[in-house]
Amino acid sequence: MAGCRRLSGSCLREVLGEAQGVLFDCDGVLWTGERAVPGAPELLERLGRNGKAAFFVSNNSRRSVAELERRFCRLGFRGVRGEQVFSSALCTALYLRRRLAGGEGEAADGASGDSSPGPVFVLGGEGLRGELRDAGLHLTSGAEEEEEEEEEGGGGGGEEPPRPPLTDREGLPVRAVVVGYDDQFTFAKLSEACAYLRDPQCLLVATDPDPWHPLSNGQRTPGTGSLTAAVETASGRKAVVIGKPNTYMFECIVERFGVDPSRMLMVGDRLETDILFGKNCGLDTVLTLTGVSNLEEAQAYMASDSPAAKDLVPHYYVDSIADLIPGLDD
Ligand SMILES: [Mg+2]
Repeated sequence: MAGCRRLSGSCLREVLGEAQGVLFDCDGVLWTGERAVPGAPELLERLGRNGKAAFFVSNNSRRSVAELERRFCRLGFRGVRGEQVFSSALCTALYLRRRLAGGEGEAADGASGDSSPGPVFVLGGEGLRGELRDAGLHLTSGAEEEEEEEEEGGGGGGEEPPRPPLTDREGLPVRAVVVGYDDQFTFAKLSEACAYLRDPQCLLVATDPDPWHPLSNGQRTPGTGSLTAAVETASGRKAVVIGKPNTYMFECIVERFGVDPSRMLMVGDRLETDILFGKNCGLDTVLTLTGVSNLEEAQAYMASDSPAAKDLVPHYYVDSIADLIPGLDD
C-alpha cells in the first residue's frame, strides 16, 4: 500500500535500481514556467546513462510534440526525442484516428473513398489542431470565424443565438468534437459544438480533465476540465477523457515500447491527476513538491477513511526530482 514515504538513501537506490524507466509529468516537475527545475536536466541524462527509459506524459494540450521538443531543448534538456513525449494532444489524435478510421469496429469514413477521417470540430489552439492534422484527421473550418466577421450589430437582448449546421462547410457530418485548452472559448463555439453533438454518432473527446492551472503570480487560469464541463452540461453528453488520470496515455506507451508496468515509476506534482494515473496504471508513484500539490494534502488523503482518497496517496515523495540523482550511478 502507498505510504507517502520520503524517497532517499538505500530505498531510493533500490527503487531506481529495479526500475526499467520513469514517466514524468512536465509542468511543475521538470520545469515551472520558463525555468527548468534545478537538477532536472542532469537527472534525465543520468537516467539515460544508467540505461533507464524516460517518458513524458503531459495533460497540457496547448503544445504540439514538436513544440514540446523545442521547449526541452530551450530549457537545457539535452537529447530528448519527440517519440518519448506523450502529450494529451498527441494521444487524443491517436485515439481519434483509431476510432474514426474504423480501427475498432467503428464505421469507416463513409463511402466516399476519402482516406482522411473526419471532419472533427476542435475547441483548442494551434498546437492541438496541428497534432490532429498530423494524425491525418480533417478539421472543420470554424463557423466562429465567420460569426466574428458578422458580429458588428452587438449581442444581447434575448436574441436567438446563431444556429450552426450539423455538417461542416463541405456538407460532411462532423464525426467528433474535441475539447482542449482553448483561451478563445466563446458562447458561439459552445453552441456549435452542442449542435454537432445532437448527432449520437458524433464523439465527444476531451484532452484532459484539469480544472485549472497555476500561474506564476499565484493566480489560477481555467483548464480544459472547466470547458469540458460546459460542453457536457449544454449537450447532455459525457466526454471520453484522454489525459491523466485515465490510462490511455500509458496504453500508448505500452503499445509502442512494450514497457513492464511493474518496473515503471510515475513522477508527478498533482495528486488528483499524476498520482491517480500511476495508481490506475499499476505503477509505483512519486510526488514531487515543486508544483501544485503539497505534502499536507497527501497526508490528509492518507489519513482519510475513504477508499477513493487512498488512491491519491503516492508511494513516495521528494522535495524536487533533483533528489533522485543520488539513486543513480555516475
Ligand atoms: Mg504538473
